[in-house]
Amino acid sequence: MSQKLVLASNNAKKASEMQTLLAPLGLEIIPQARLGVDEAEEPYFTFIENALAKARHAAAVTGLPAIADDSGLCVAALGGAPGVHSARFAGEPKSDERNNQFLLERLSNVPESERNAWYYCGLVLVRHANDPCPVIADGQWHGFILDAPLGTGGFGYDPFFWLPELGKSAAELDPAHKNALSHRGVAMRRLLERLRERPLSKEPE
Ligand code: IMP
Repeated sequence: MSQKLVLASNNAKKASEMQTLLAPLGLEIIPQARLGVDEAEEPYFTFIENALAKARHAAAVTGLPAIADDSGLCVAALGGAPGVHSARFAGEPKSDERNNQFLLERLSNVPESERNAWYYCGLVLVRHANDPCPVIADGQWHGFILDAPLGTGGFGYDPFFWLPELGKSAAELDPAHKNALSHRGVAMRRLLERLRERPLSKEPE
C-alpha cells in the first residue's frame, strides 16, 4: 500500500501545481477536502508559521502526514504588502479579480521602474500533528507589476506579474514553464531534496 500524504490546500489551481511538483515522491497525494478537512486559521505574520498551522491542522484531523504551502505576493513599493494577506487583499469574500483591482489602485502613483515585486512560497511537511522536526523549504520569484493584465493561465496575481527576462507575464506561461521557475517550484524542489535526506518513512533522528 502506498504512503499517503494530505495536501492542505483548498485552492484548486494551487493544489494542481503542487500535485505535479510532488509527483517525483511517488506518494498518494490526497487533497484535504476529500478527507473532510476544513480551512485552518492563518493568523500569523510569516508564511512559514501559517504553512505550519495548515499542515498541523490537516495532520491532526486525518492522522496522516500533511504538506501545506502558504504563499503570496510582496510588492516593494507597498512595504511587502499584500504578503500573508494576498488571498484576501481586497477583503472578504476572497476574489482574485478584486485583489488585482485593489493592487492597481494602490500602485496608481508608482512608476513602472519601481513596481518590483516577488512571490514567496513557504512549504511545510509534518509527519504527524505534533512533529517536532517539520521539513521546511521556501522559494521566491521576482518580477514587476503591470498596469494591465496579460495572459489567461495561472491564477491570482499572475496576469499582472511581469517577467522581464521572458518578456511575458506569469499568466502567459504554460503550467510546466511556470513550475520550472516559480516560487512554488523552487520551494518544492528544495523540499524534495530535504526529503531525500530524511524520507517520510523514517522518523527524524
Ligand atoms: P494562501 O492560499 O493563503 O497561501 O494564499 C495564497 C494567495 O497568494 C493566493 O490566493 C494568490 O492571491 C497569491 N498567490 C500565491 N501564489 C501565487 C501564484 O503562483 N500566482 C498568483 N498568485 C499567487
